[in-house]
Amino acid sequence: MIGYTGRLAPSPTGALHLGNARTFMVAWLRARSCGGKIVFRMEDLDHPRDKPGAAAAAVEDLRWLGFDWDEEYVQSRRRNVYRAALAQLDAYPCVCSRSDVERAQSAPHAGEQLHYPGTCRGRFPTWAAAAKACAPRIPCWRFRVPRDATVEFNDVFAGRYVQDVWRTLGDFPLARDPDGAGYTLAATVDDALMGVTEAVRGDDLLPATPPQILVAKALGRTPPAYCHVPLVVGPDGRRLAKRHGDTRIASFREAGVKPEAVLGWLAWTCGWNAKKEPTRLKSLVGRCPLNTIPREAVVWGGSLT
Ligand code: GLU
Repeated sequence: MIGYTGRLAPSPTGALHLGNARTFMVAWLRARSCGGKIVFRMEDLDHPRDKPGAAAAAVEDLRWLGFDWDEEYVQSRRRNVYRAALAQLDAYPCVCSRSDVERAQSAPHAGEQLHYPGTCRGRFPTWAAAAKACAPRIPCWRFRVPRDATVEFNDVFAGRYVQDVWRTLGDFPLARDPDGAGYTLAATVDDALMGVTEAVRGDDLLPATPPQILVAKALGRTPPAYCHVPLVVGPDGRRLAKRHGDTRIASFREAGVKPEAVLGWLAWTCGWNAKKEPTRLKSLVGRCPLNTIPREAVVWGGSLT
């Protein structure tokens, strides 16, 4: 494809593990297999979950595995860009605390996403007025979701996905304060401004995609294509975590494992290697079809071999 731009967008909330590496491998290969460009974007706006040193460590891990990229950005240095985008959107300040929102739930909601019924819509003329009303707390900004905001898109891997954003999320948050862009706003603005044509990421982010599509359209932008691939999980079916043993890329490196062994396992999980044999990232360029990747999550069995 001419003009393909993909991205690697790690969050420095912890060490890179096999699951992250697998998604990045798919993203990198999708771009490189069609002669496309790759943007590296550090998504470091998630205080206080961001861990000191994790951003540099993620870069080191990715380089060790053989990844490269053409442009590099750090979200925490782009706050003015998100602030300008926020000013273009139909957003309003909200003084509700998390427990206010929890109390307002009409039905129990699965997952972490809360439904916001629009309590603060039209309540405050300015953010300063809202700030005065809830001091010392700080108001957030919410996106005014249209009632008919059913978003439907065709995911490159996962297929058709439909979400009634008003019923599922309601007026979702855009920013913690005028300078505190959240993930939805920052990722959407960046995908647009960085010319990303396809966002490859873990399928835990499928439900986060319709709000991004709404925001992109409200900014007059065409959202990228999305390609959500299944995660790596532990034997208990839950996403990789410490309790499943040490799957951090840095730990394999420190234990003397070669990057080719890690990539060989990752490629095997995608159906690109018949056996778990040492593989270089570059050798997979052009032989990484999506249709051999299992539709279900990969279960980490505790060993690369
Ligand atoms: N930074 C996010 C993460 O590491 C990924 C966001 C995205 O790809 O849109 O989970």
